[in-house]
Amino acid sequence: MDQANLMDQANLLKEVILHNDSFVKSHSHKDFEPYIPKQDPCITLLTCSDSRVQLEAFFPESINKVFVVRNIGNQILTNRGSVDYGVLCLNTPILMILGHVDCGAIKAFMSGYSHTNLNICAELNHLHLSLSPKESKENSLLFYIEKNIHSQVEIALEMYSEKIDKGELLVLGALYDFANQCGQGYGRLFIININGKVVPKIRDYETLSKFLKEESKNDKK
Ligand SMILES: [Zn+2]
Repeated sequence: MDQANLMDQANLLKEVILHNDSFVKSHSHKDFEPYIPKQDPCITLLTCSDSRVQLEAFFPESINKVFVVRNIGNQILTNRGSVDYGVLCLNTPILMILGHVDCGAIKAFMSGYSHTNLNICAELNHLHLSLSPKESKENSLLFYIEKNIHSQVEIALEMYSEKIDKGELLVLGALYDFANQCGQGYGRLFIININGKVVPKIRDYETLSKFLKEESKNDKK
């Protein structure tokens, strides 16, 4: 391994150790006590592994709150057991499926990926379920990213219909826009699907709560 790489690794690890040390020093045992016996998250988050998508953009405190499942392309079926664990064993009342702009998995699926290794191919193959048949070539990458999010929500609706019907689970599709492609600010989170209902990109709580109220009325019907 060359010297420059070793230096980079050493610097990164130094950063990790120093950050952890200051984390330990700035927290007392009281901070950990509530969740040492067991975890009690309130949301299962299925998102893409992309390093540009990180929880601090929308969760100020994610410890013991967010049960996170990540893979390339935020797909349910490639991590079905983990998503089941959050929804059925930890009983989080929300499952959020979060995609993001400039998703490399969707880009690779759309442009052809047979040259990548077998393991990567195997994961990307699952996107056939949500993105095939390919529609007009005119459609943007963002169109397919959103289509994948909606399709993943549809899969979740089938998997967890009982809980959803009882009002015990809300499935949300969301989009994270770190590149301001939607013109609403860098790092904006949009809700784009509520229990299978495609909604206009919601970014404010007032609009979201209006849609949520409608959704709970539908539940009661
Ligand atoms: Zn991605």
